This record gives sequence, C-alpha cells and structure tokens, in this order.
Amino acid sequence: MSAQLIKGTEIRNVILDELKKEVQDMKAKHGVVPGLVTILVGQNPASISYVTLKIQTAEGLGFHEIQDNQPENISENDLLALIDKYNKDPKIHGILVQLPLPKHISEKKVLNAIDPDKDVDGFHPVNVGRLMIGGDEVRYPPCTPAGIQELIVRSGTETKGAEVVVVGRSNIVGKPIAIMMAQKGKGANSTVTIVHTGTKDLASHCKRADILIVAAGVPGLVKPEWIKPGSTVIDVGVNRIGVNEKGKAILRGDVDFDAAKEIAGKITPVPGGVGPMTITMLMKNTVKSAWLHIKGNV
Ligand code: NAP
Repeated sequence: MSAQLIKGTEIRNVILDELKKEVQDMKAKHGVVPGLVTILVGQNPASISYVTLKIQTAEGLGFHEIQDNQPENISENDLLALIDKYNKDPKIHGILVQLPLPKHISEKKVLNAIDPDKDVDGFHPVNVGRLMIGGDEVRYPPCTPAGIQELIVRSGTETKGAEVVVVGRSNIVGKPIAIMMAQKGKGANSTVTIVHTGTKDLASHCKRADILIVAAGVPGLVKPEWIKPGSTVIDVGVNRIGVNEKGKAILRGDVDFDAAKEIAGKITPVPGGVGPMTITMLMKNTVKSAWLHIKGNV
C-alpha cells in the first residue's frame, strides 16, 4: 500500500482529548459545563444507536447532558414547545433533534425553531448563511463537513491553491464542504469544483483533484484511474453492501479503496475515516456554543 491512511478514529481521539481539557478549564474558570440536549422522537433503532453514541461521547467529556425521549405520537406543537423550553434554558448550549421525525411533524418547522445560537448541528438557515459569509461570521459548521476539513488539515494536506473536487451537492455534505474549502482562510483557500449527476464527464474532473471529496452514496463510484497520483482522497460514502457471518453490516465507501490506495497519497478508509468525525464535531460545536454564551456573544 502506498497511500498514508487518514485514520478518523485516531484523529477523533486527539480532538476529544483537546475538548475534555477545554471543558475542565471552562468549569474551573467559569463554573460552567457545556450543556447538550438530544431530542429523540419514537423508537427508530438506527436513531437510538446514534443518540446513544452522542450521549456517551458527551458524558465522557463531562457535559451537562439531557436525553429527552418523546413518544412517536407527540404533536408538532408539543415538540415546538419543548424546543422553546430548551431555547430558554441557560444550562443548555446545544439542541439536537434526531432525524428522521414521524411524518406528521414538519422537520423544517422543527429545525427552524431551534435558536440559531444553540443549533450545534449547523442546519438552521441562519447558520447556513453564516457559513456562506465565512470568516468570523461562521458559528457552527455542519458536523460532517467540519470533520472532513479537520481530516484534511490534520493529515498535513496543503489546501491553499489546491484543486478540490467534491462529488455530490447535498445540503449536509457536498454543498457545505465545497463552500468551506473555497473560503479565504486556514485549511481552505482552495479552487473548488462540485460535480453531480448532471456533470458531463465526472472522470475528467476527478482526475485533476489534489483533494477529492466523494459524498455520493454509490459504492465504488470512483474508479482508481480517476485518482490523481499522490492526491488526498476523502471518502464520505457509507454503503451497506451486505451482512457478514455475524450478521453485521458490511460497509463500503464510494471509492474503490483497494485499488485507490495504491495511487493516492493519502486516503480515508470506510469505516474508520470520516464516520467517527461527525459526532466529534458536534461536541466541538457544543463547546464553542458554551464559550459564546459565557462571553455573551450570542
Ligand atoms: P445525498 O443527499 O443522496 O446526495 C448525494 C449526492 O451525490 C447528490 O448530489 C447526487 O447528485 C450525487 N450523486 C449520486 N450519484 C452520483 C453519480 N453517479 N455521479 C455523480 N454524482 C452523484 O447523500 P448525502 O447525504 O450527501 O450522503 C452521501 C454519502 O455520504 C452517503 O453514503 C451517506 O451515507 C454518507 N454520509 C456519511 C456521513 C458520515 O460518515 N458521518 C455523514 C453524511 C453522509 P444529484 O444532486 O444530481 O442527485
């Protein structure tokens, strides 16, 4: 194997250690710990396991953490009232509503009801706008793109002037990471191209990428011959392609990893690359929110 593996699990552990020290410092100096509420509606098994992981991570960092489980049949108005309660709770700095929500509830209405200064997921239109403006305006970058940028920076990849190609234009990954990499500033300042299903010649764009970020959700979409030798490849895709003998899901990325690792300079594995970064960035945003609230910058 020629490429250096960008190990998300190792980078996650380093960031969590940094955050833990920051939380201890905050508590010692200000008597405040970051507060995170996770609102789960219903009993979707995947949602339960995501929420459990988020809560365990928050507990490990010493957060004030609330898991607020609500029944599947909660009304939209009651859920909005609950969000309003946490918007006003000074001990809470981050509000997370686990998606998907039941069909009778408008996800848009619910997400837009979260105070943008507590929207640590970064999905509120106000925070999307702040991300677009860039610089000091950015408050809570969405977690998966923020994790991708950390992996690029912490793996020592030069971003200034780099040709970045992003495969995918979703609101949660493709569009925000493209904006973030194009901004003027550290860990960015790149020349960015976004490609999607309307792109005429996907391969030709990927081939000139110094940094190739793939978030399409199509297993093995990116072929080894599309990869520029020595480039950094970030594979965001998580595709279940079957189950192993123990009944566990077999996961594959959007890149043909085995062949790509012989050509790329640096590459993320799936699993163990981008995956572990998302919750870590949620924690980072919550710590940031607590500092902003302490300093009265909200
Ligand atoms: P999405 O909303 O389905 O968007 C996929 C994007 O990829 C769309 O913009 C689509 O283009 C584009 N695309 C799909 N097939 C393509 C093709 N053959 N050629 C070119 N472009 C293509 O997905 P998403 O939410 O961004 O997620 C993408 C992948 O990342 C999924 O596998 C998901 O599970 C994974 N993911 C992982 C994490 C994590 O690890 N923490 C977090 C989020 C997502 P159009 O717009 O033209 O349809």
